[in-house]
Amino acid sequence: MKVTEHIAKAKGNTLFSFEIIPPVKGRSIQELYGNIDPLMEFNPPFIDVTTSREEYVYIDRDGLLDKKLTRMRPGTVGICASIKHKYDVDTIPHVLCGGFTKEETEYLLVDCHYLGIDNVMALRGDAMREEQYFEATKGGHKYANELVKQIQDLNCGKYLHEVIETDNCADFCIGVAGYPEKHLEAPSLKSDLKRLKQKVDAGADYVVTQMFFDNQKYFEFVDAAKDMGIDVPIIPGIKPIAVKRHLQLLPQVFRIDLPQDLIDALDDCTNNKAVRQVGIEWATKQSKELKEAGVPVLHYYSMGKSDNIKAIAKAVF
Ligand code: FAD
Repeated sequence: MKVTEHIAKAKGNTLFSFEIIPPVKGRSIQELYGNIDPLMEFNPPFIDVTTSREEYVYIDRDGLLDKKLTRMRPGTVGICASIKHKYDVDTIPHVLCGGFTKEETEYLLVDCHYLGIDNVMALRGDAMREEQYFEATKGGHKYANELVKQIQDLNCGKYLHEVIETDNCADFCIGVAGYPEKHLEAPSLKSDLKRLKQKVDAGADYVVTQMFFDNQKYFEFVDAAKDMGIDVPIIPGIKPIAVKRHLQLLPQVFRIDLPQDLIDALDDCTNNKAVRQVGIEWATKQSKELKEAGVPVLHYYSMGKSDNIKAIAKAVF
């Protein structure tokens, strides 16, 4: 079922969902299940599965280092299929521009269609670790709005090299990313919102936001998006702080601000257990206020561990 249908069916009640990351290559999927199991009691209608960018690894061959490009956490579509089958829940693969040619994207979408996956999240992807800026893959898309268009075209039977008249067209519901504190490369929030509008005009059905720690930023973003004519659901993405290093890491990586009250509470923590508890309490407070405001879904970034998400969900749902 489509995300937009889940939202319509909930009739104004806030839904619970979360995002997971595929295991590192070679690790068992059981660990992933172990983190999903405790969250199923909160009835997520859908679960997102991220896609990682490829990266360079250096392999020692008799003293000489061989540089190879590899994806450390492959398996997004396979994991979507296995979770869908195991838990009878909708799964949403993240589809990236970076690292994929348009042909590869087409094949991936065909796989998703065969697997009965109804939703995809269309993203540009970040720059690779070695790059200062994102560089489009040869034969791939440069921006997410182009990827949205490819998916929307496929929904109409328009493949890359031919139009196929069929009664078996894909009908993907398309999610895209939004940034309450603007995307780090955008020159202003307004220009970033214009880019978001382009994605919606190209066919995006809903937006999931980057994490934020001050709800006011989300509320203002939703108002600004509405003023710009963006009328699709905007789902808030919530991340509970889990380790003290997040204090520096999150602002550095995502160019987001942390409220002073949260920084002070984290500064007072003497170990990561206390930090995790502060993270839970802050995200719970945020979630309760957002739910009260009637957001369609509360979407959590689980980053592989679910004990904190479970504590928050227990307090909120
Ligand atoms: P875009 O919408 O293409 O925007 C990128 C930048 O370009 C923005 O600054 C925008 O303002 C600008 N821009 C857009 N269109 C144009 C244009 N036509 N001309 C000029 N400028 C333009 N990353 C992963 O690698 N894997 C994941 O699984 C993943 N999941 C995510 C899930 C969510 C909910 C979010 C919020 C982010 C996720 N990301 C993921 C990170 C995302 O890939 C990065 O934030 C990336 O840098 C931007 O992706 P985008 O889809 O927003 O890009």
